[in-house]
Amino acid sequence: MPEEPTERISDLKRIREGIYQIVSPFPEYRKEEAYDMRHDLEAHPRVTKGLPYVLPYFIASRGDNLLVDCGWNTDDAHFALDEQLKEAGSELKDIQTLVLTHAHPDHCGLSGRLKEETGCTIWMHEAEAGFLQSRYVEPEELLKHMDEWAARHGVPVADRPDIERGSMPMRFFVSTFEPDKMAKGGERLEVGDYSFEIIWTPGHSPGHICLYDEQKELLLTGDHVLPTITPNVSLHPQQRPNPLQDYLDSIEKVAKLKVKQVLPAHEWDFEDLQKRLAEMRVHHVSRLDDMLVAVGNEGTVSATQVAQRVKWTTGSYDSFQPWMKRAAIGEALSHLMYLVSQGRLVSSEEDGRLLFQRA
Ligand SMILES: [Zn+2]
Ligand SMILES: [Zn+2]
Repeated sequence: MPEEPTERISDLKRIREGIYQIVSPFPEYRKEEAYDMRHDLEAHPRVTKGLPYVLPYFIASRGDNLLVDCGWNTDDAHFALDEQLKEAGSELKDIQTLVLTHAHPDHCGLSGRLKEETGCTIWMHEAEAGFLQSRYVEPEELLKHMDEWAARHGVPVADRPDIERGSMPMRFFVSTFEPDKMAKGGERLEVGDYSFEIIWTPGHSPGHICLYDEQKELLLTGDHVLPTITPNVSLHPQQRPNPLQDYLDSIEKVAKLKVKQVLPAHEWDFEDLQKRLAEMRVHHVSRLDDMLVAVGNEGTVSATQVAQRVKWTTGSYDSFQPWMKRAAIGEALSHLMYLVSQGRLVSSEEDGRLLFQRA
């Protein structure tokens, strides 16, 4: 039997009364491609290669509204937001409050532009706000720190310039801004019938936040919890000392919440938070074992050597773009530091390099 033609009425997913999931394309995808991918993943959830879109959420209730994350600063993403807000019965200029889950460009890119167009109030965690200037406006100081960091963790001299500058092109996709409100966690945002508590969930980034409506049992998770992807938890010059410990603690923090529906910033929305958290705990136990195997039993190794040896779902270290190599070294390092804190590895200094071996 021929399939019934399904007409696509809207690209916007209405999660429930007053909550809309917006599809915002990554710069390497056209918005129509991103919309199609979102529809396709809704029908056939599966692990995807690469990130075609980010999912901001628009909450509008009894005259109040709130946008959570806003996408990259591209004309296409701006247009996508505009057209989907219209579908939600609102307009760009009506945005009152913008909450940023963290300062990565796919989440905060359009902020400056939106602030200029709407005068909205921008919230972000205080631990995140300091990165805006150093990453997106005046990166020279950060690049110097990256160079020291790369040397300390065993990146060969010839590879260093590429690895340091790896994410510089991304800064052109962020329109800079100053946040109006700095969160610490625990603040409450009232949006008509909704009441969201800001929950500080460091790990993926130092000032990552989730939004939780206890009454509606709704959790907006940003990049903290995603249906199949495990977010990068990387130790780099702008991280806290033991980000993997932070991340594992943040998993337990959201595990305590009563949640009926999870609204993440990538892939798709889902219901069973506890099941996903259980998978993530298992993943991290086996990932730590992989890192221990990569350290080996013979002598000391650098984080770069571990990143070269360990298996990555996205390919081999040597095939990575420079910014991915840096993320891989940072991720290896966050695991190594965590294993040191657990007494399973010891670290030592040698000619300004930080090395690891079995305890
Ligand atoms: Zn992120
Ligand atoms: Zn993201």
